[in-house]
Amino acid sequence: MNITIHRGQNQIGGNIIEISTDETKILLDVGLDLDEEKNKVLPNIKGLFDEAGYDAVFVSHYHGDHLGLAYQIHKDIPLFMGEKSTKIIQTSDAYKGVPTISPKGFLEHKKKIVIGDIAVTPYLCDHSAFDSYMLLCEADGESILYTGDFRGNGRKPYDRLLSELPAKVDKLICEGTTLSRNGYVAVTERELEEQAVAEFRNTRGPIFVLQSSTNIDRIVTMYRAAKRCGRKFLQELYMAEVASAIGGSIPNPAFSDVYAFITNPDRYDALTKYRRMGKEGMAKTPFVMCVRSTMLSYLQSLSKMVDFEGGLLVYSMWSGYQQQPRMSRFLKACEEMGLRIIALHTSGHADAETIQRLIARVNPSEIIPVHTENAQWFDKR
Ligand SMILES: [Zn+2]
Ligand SMILES: [Zn+2]
Repeated sequence: MNITIHRGQNQIGGNIIEISTDETKILLDVGLDLDEEKNKVLPNIKGLFDEAGYDAVFVSHYHGDHLGLAYQIHKDIPLFMGEKSTKIIQTSDAYKGVPTISPKGFLEHKKKIVIGDIAVTPYLCDHSAFDSYMLLCEADGESILYTGDFRGNGRKPYDRLLSELPAKVDKLICEGTTLSRNGYVAVTERELEEQAVAEFRNTRGPIFVLQSSTNIDRIVTMYRAAKRCGRKFLQELYMAEVASAIGGSIPNPAFSDVYAFITNPDRYDALTKYRRMGKEGMAKTPFVMCVRSTMLSYLQSLSKMVDFEGGLLVYSMWSGYQQQPRMSRFLKACEEMGLRIIALHTSGHADAETIQRLIARVNPSEIIPVHTENAQWFDKR
């Protein structure tokens, strides 16, 4: 098999990785660049956009830096991704009123998909996107494992994943997002939950959590902390829609202590299918509310009915977003409204030890680093 990294090697995000034999040509991920400027023109990859020159595209998870170009690929190229990922992305697109994607088939843990003479086996892994997969490609007696984005500090047992992966691969295409953070050791989601409980217990006013609505593990962490502190968990409609699309054990308004609310009155009809709470209810209920930086005017109007003094805003995202103008305005305004701001976050990406353990398990003859700004780490380790 030949490997061509079209993009995403010495940078974080924008992955486009080609695996080919004489007969078959597939892509693993078709991501947008994290630098918006670079997305103004499509990458120059023959047979991807204007004709169906590839036999299939596999998307490891729904983050834009892996999935984003799937909307533009030629309609005759079959697309594969996780079923729950698809539900999340279709729900998100419907909420935003934009066109969506329709995969030809779904990735399932250890269910092999054969395209021409390449067999692709997905392995469910933990990441800040729900339903993420590593992808094992096999052809001509050769094996290549692509990690996508992954971590060992989530709620899915990393040991179990390691034990299921092959004990030997020829090539490992491995992400290394955190390797440029010297000495970084990832806090686990469970440790984060304990930290949140301690902070929540110390807070008498309202609690707000600024986090991604599609970071499902973080929704679970913050919900559990809220529950342990006897607070109701409030999800704005967008998060309620995403969480309900997955359902099951994922906190959503079907839970007796989770409520949906809206910030845009035009969305009222969509809200009525959920257990909901308005500002009057919030004024007499201890709560943890998930918020976004676009919700500033809603919070300002809420502060007229709910006393924000002694309240808390938990910043639970990558610290780099704080530099964005809208985010820094939001944080400043929250502080002015009397909220104490703290950061409680952990990465969706493997730390060095987690990557070492993967390498030890699959014992690759060659490693190809991607999604990193410190590829040299793999030589020196
Ligand atoms: Zn990524
Ligand atoms: Zn990702």
